Amino acid sequence: HAKQSGRSRFSYFTESMSEKAEQRLALEHALRRALQENGLHIVYQPKVRWPEGEVIGAEALVRWTREDGRVIPPDHFIELAEEAGLITQVDEWVMREVCQQIAAWRRDGGRTVPVSVNVSLARLDNERLLEHTRNALQDAGIPAECVEIEFTESQMFTHKEQAVELMNQLKELGIGLAVDDFGTGYSNLTYLAQYDFDTIKIDRTFVCGLHDNERQYAIVQAIIAMARAMGFRMIAEGVETPEEAAMLQEHGCRDMQGYLFSKPVTAVECLTLIRNGLPDRHETAGLRTAHGPH
Ligand code: C2E
Ligand code: MG
Ligand code: MG
Ligand code: MG
Repeated sequence: HAKQSGRSRFSYFTESMSEKAEQRLALEHALRRALQENGLHIVYQPKVRWPEGEVIGAEALVRWTREDGRVIPPDHFIELAEEAGLITQVDEWVMREVCQQIAAWRRDGGRTVPVSVNVSLARLDNERLLEHTRNALQDAGIPAECVEIEFTESQMFTHKEQAVELMNQLKELGIGLAVDDFGTGYSNLTYLAQYDFDTIKIDRTFVCGLHDNERQYAIVQAIIAMARAMGFRMIAEGVETPEEAAMLQEHGCRDMQGYLFSKPVTAVECLTLIRNGLPDRHETAGLRTAHGPH
């Protein structure tokens, strides 16, 4: 192997690198086309107040359907969109679509709930985001309170000054703000007080297996205590088992989101859950009787 020439190894690497670059470019091109040709759609995951089972909100999550019918989850293209400078267009499309969906639900009559939208801070442009959000609300004819924005904790701290300003501006508009994936962003806790947001979303990694792991349990307790002391609302994401839900509830975190209650569903299915509450599925029904209000 020592005799293998540097040159051939070099050409091997450049070849595979350019192959990768080509794949990326093709993917980027396809995403651009999806944006223009209705290739994206949105699914909605209900947020639930436990143990009542009442749907108190929903989160909009983007999906991309390729031409061959494969559905690509956001974890496989959001980063690409950020790097390619397409994320602003994706997020703007989602915001506009969600506002229109909320307006349609309201026209339908009956109960509606705030819907949250994930917004990337990777290509932060305060003016553009504000302008677009204002227009999306206005064109749909809905009040700002119908929409909530989720920023991931890690991105909030990369452009701190600008993010603080943006959050103040969005609050002024009347939009609810949440810190997503809380606890995973290596945040400086003293900074938290400087951001004007309403809700902390406890990250799934802390929730998963909560009942089996004492340290994880301690972390969740600490986050809940801190959120309460600072006057934030809180919601736990990724709740998959009745045991996790029961523990969160015991410690005063009653707003939850996760496969235990519902996977992300279509707008039509989500509206049914908003109007009728959760179906009394076996496992959740049992939990409600066991731990429900007396
Ligand atoms: P997120 O905002 O933290 O969303 C929660 C993710 O966890 C969603 O994945 C959801 O489907 C999934 N999830 C919900 N409940 C459970 C559960 O009980 N167990 C497990 N294992 N997973 C659960 P999804 O839809 O694949 O989205 C992944 C991430 O992509 C989101 O994380 C969000 O950061 C980002 N994302 C989604 N839509 C958008 C968008 O429109 N714009 C931007 N910028 N980012 C988006
Ligand atoms: Mg989110
Ligand atoms: Mg999250
Ligand atoms: Mg998360």
